Amino acid sequence: MPQSLPDTSVEGVTRYGLFIGNRQIAPVDGEYLDVADPATGRVWAQVPNASTKDVDAAVDSARRAFEEGDWPGYRAADRAKFLIRFGEAIADHADEIARLQVGENGKLIREMAGQARLMPEYFNYYAGLAQMPTGTTNPLHVQQMINYTVREPLGVVAAITPWNSPLLLLVWKLGPALAAGNTVIAKPSEVTPVSAIRFAELAAEAGLPPGVFNVVTGLGSPSGTALTGHPGVDKIAFTGSTATGQAIASQAGKTLKRVSLELGGKSPNIVFSDADLTSAINGLVAGIFGAGGQTCMAGSRILVEDGIYEQVVEELARRAEAIKVGDPRDPASEMGAVACRPQFDKVLSYVEVAKADGARLVAGGTVAEVEGLPGGLFVRPTVFADVTNDMRIAQEEVFGPIASLIRFHDEDEAVRIANDTQFGLAAGVWTGNVQRAHRVAGRLRAGTVWINNYRKTSYATPFGGYKQSGLGRENGADALREYTEEKSVWVDTGQGVKDPFNPRA
Ligand code: NAD
Repeated sequence: MPQSLPDTSVEGVTRYGLFIGNRQIAPVDGEYLDVADPATGRVWAQVPNASTKDVDAAVDSARRAFEEGDWPGYRAADRAKFLIRFGEAIADHADEIARLQVGENGKLIREMAGQARLMPEYFNYYAGLAQMPTGTTNPLHVQQMINYTVREPLGVVAAITPWNSPLLLLVWKLGPALAAGNTVIAKPSEVTPVSAIRFAELAAEAGLPPGVFNVVTGLGSPSGTALTGHPGVDKIAFTGSTATGQAIASQAGKTLKRVSLELGGKSPNIVFSDADLTSAINGLVAGIFGAGGQTCMAGSRILVEDGIYEQVVEELARRAEAIKVGDPRDPASEMGAVACRPQFDKVLSYVEVAKADGARLVAGGTVAEVEGLPGGLFVRPTVFADVTNDMRIAQEEVFGPIASLIRFHDEDEAVRIANDTQFGLAAGVWTGNVQRAHRVAGRLRAGTVWINNYRKTSYATPFGGYKQSGLGRENGADALREYTEEKSVWVDTGQGVKDPFNPRA
């Protein structure tokens, strides 16, 4: 049995527990992982590396809350009230949860604070949708029968998330999952686990019943695999890399768990020569250097029409060099750290890959020195020109601040290059020609297309990938369908059958 959490915090390192049944508990095997601040290299927290026994305890808690607890049976209006209160608690602690995330993933405080302020709106949106009638009454060809449908919660949802936007991507799952009456076990990234534990505490303080929202921390294996293989889990809502998504989908297939996958991307950001170039360059910079490129929707392939190609190369290189890489807690910084050492090494290794493949380095490409933070994981914004779409830098997701500029001659070639990828998450189109804008948007094989803008998302709009960028959609009203089963109920009204072709029968 899991133990109560002993107070073992030492020398500025806080030890956290698994969050199960609305309290923190120690892991059965007593194994912990360090959490380091990527801007300083300092270890500031430890979290459990959950074993299968810990995962069993979490699933047991979530199952009991679903099968025996009140949550699924509450009126939708009452579940909505909890969601709104949870949102209010987040608003009250927005600064704290933003700072926790900065300490985990090194992203800018203003980005994390912006996300924290937005989260209550997601819960408000799903609080409203929870109360929308979702069933139908069906006209039938069968006499004396009424048929109606209801949508019911799936049961226990495992929400497995990455490190780049730890809580926002969890909220994308929690909103519809809780609104529909499911119970949830979150498994945050091992890089960013603490914010999720604090988040669950806030939910408990806001009145969420025990077992409705649990958190298990730990590595992909054993903690993640124990969840995805568990017979007591009904659905896996996953955001992360395509490789992990594929592994999860195969494992889930064995028990036919419901799965939704938000995966990687190599999104094209296409600039035609008739575009407003000032806006386009701003969009290119935000698309690839916003969030330090550590976003699934990064516009990492920049496709530029012949006539303006050299101008865009020059301007983008100038803008990249001007970005102030610095302490993510300093509001004046424009780009923070890379989230963890393996990712830092991966980003730098792709600089070498691109050079070896013949791409021309025109900006960055090295570690960034940040004054006062010698142990930090900082990379300079990097731009490669003369990239062709068959190069690895154009085909593989780096998940870092590296832009690849590819030249195209006409619209057909732009579309062909844009679609020539295993991914299909997002794309941008920059043009002053409204017909071309919609025509190209229609031809792009991507779940989101931005016309003359980039990187916008909303709780009201579906987000997800074509091809190997995912399965299913998050956000928007239909996200509730991803967390419910549809049941069809037949009722015999006992009226007797009337046959218009044989009145005496
Ligand atoms: P990752 O796939 O390595 O890990 C994601 C999560 O899965 C972590 O919690 C990890 O512990 C867990 N995990 C790893 N192996 C597992 C397994 N075999 N079974 C179960 N769980 C397992 O991804 P990451 O490096 O944390 O995040 C970066 C990736 O996430 C990028 O590829 C990025 O594109 C993707 N991402 C996608 C979106 C989207 O909405 N499409 C958003 C953000 C990030």
